[in-house]
Amino acid sequence: WIVIAIVAAIAISTILPWFALSGAEQGSDAYAERAESLQTLFEIIGFGGDIFLRLLKMMVVPLVVVSVMSGILGLGDVRKLGRPGLYTVGFYFLTTVLAVALGLVMVNIIRPGVGTVDATKAEQIVAEKGAEIEGGAANVEEEGIGMILRNLALMLFTDNLIMSAANGDLLPLIVFSIVFAGMLTTLGERVDTITKIIDQFNHAIMAFVLLLMKAAPLGIFCLVAGRFGREMVAGTFVETMQLVWWYSITVIGALFLHALVTLPIILWVTTRRNPYLFIYQMLQALLTAFSTASSSATLPVTMECAVDRAGISRKSVDFVTPLGATINMDGTALYEAVAAIFIAQFLGMDLSLGQQLVVAVTATLAAIGAAGIPEAGLVTMLIVLHAVGLPLKYQAIILPVDWFLDRFRTAVNVFGDACGAAVVDSSFPKDPQPQPPSTPTSTSEP
Ligand code: ASP
Repeated sequence: WIVIAIVAAIAISTILPWFALSGAEQGSDAYAERAESLQTLFEIIGFGGDIFLRLLKMMVVPLVVVSVMSGILGLGDVRKLGRPGLYTVGFYFLTTVLAVALGLVMVNIIRPGVGTVDATKAEQIVAEKGAEIEGGAANVEEEGIGMILRNLALMLFTDNLIMSAANGDLLPLIVFSIVFAGMLTTLGERVDTITKIIDQFNHAIMAFVLLLMKAAPLGIFCLVAGRFGREMVAGTFVETMQLVWWYSITVIGALFLHALVTLPIILWVTTRRNPYLFIYQMLQALLTAFSTASSSATLPVTMECAVDRAGISRKSVDFVTPLGATINMDGTALYEAVAAIFIAQFLGMDLSLGQQLVVAVTATLAAIGAAGIPEAGLVTMLIVLHAVGLPLKYQAIILPVDWFLDRFRTAVNVFGDACGAAVVDSSFPKDPQPQPPSTPTSTSEP
């Protein structure tokens, strides 16, 4: 149903404006009037999508807190977190680096910035929008990479848990939940009730998510039709898409390669799972990511699919995916690297191998630091551009297509999180299978 909803939404948002506007001459009053009515219509449709998005986001903070706690409690002892924790961080880091490397290889082979962009048009966009970008990025100019490292540290430790929850900053909540649940595991019977409450709360929230997912096709239809429709009526998207067509193809092509080749190989080698069946099992989450452009908002669906569809154990999903939704962004890292090299190519700057390495390192860090919200990658990309001395204002060229590319990279981010959960899960010793009742030595419960 979600697939149908997305196809229908894209069809309606392209056909309707084309049909309604084709009769009127561009620039005429009749055209403006029709365009305005269409905008209103798509805004109303989009409003339905916003409600769905709000409901998803509403679940995120309680879900992260109880699921991380319950994941730790499921391990029984926080010291047992060592190996899976190392696997999680190791997997996330490795796949992000591979994604960046793939992006760099693709952009150097395709060279989308050389001779494919209409320079006059591009310079015009930069002249219009560039100052705004530079104005908003004064602190990047001053602090550069130090800013990412400081922000990462500040992201881990909060001075106000409630404020972090209110801002949707998940990382401090995860840190708190790990430590809190870790303490619970050392206190034994004295905290039995609270341990039970966390577990029951976790089940109740997942049931809530399941209920919400019943509305997903409608919600997703509204989200996609509302946004695509407004962009189609405004017309700037199609125009800029033509301008940076090769860049967009490079980003989307590299993202698909990462999701359909790199991650599947790692998944198969480490877990022996059929990677394409796994993609199918996670499809609902991937399409939600495409529709919301937010890994955080998609988290409830990611967890639901990973446990119920893909059969990954709850204890793995419970702490691997919330962490993934905040720090593991393969798609974002890949995209930032491609964007930086693309801008350098457009400006005729030949980046040395050393400079490309700087792009790789900063893109990886920038992706870790990016929040799981729409177009967060745009903000952290400025740090990558700054690190190799590219003028920030040239980000203006790729700005108008970012909302579209964001959807693909968010889906890849979410898929990376799910793969992480599967890989970490396979590192746990398997729970003993229940013995058949006829076995005389069986001691297990039926
Ligand atoms: N929208 C992406 C996400 O939520 C982050 C980004 O802008 O790259 O995963």
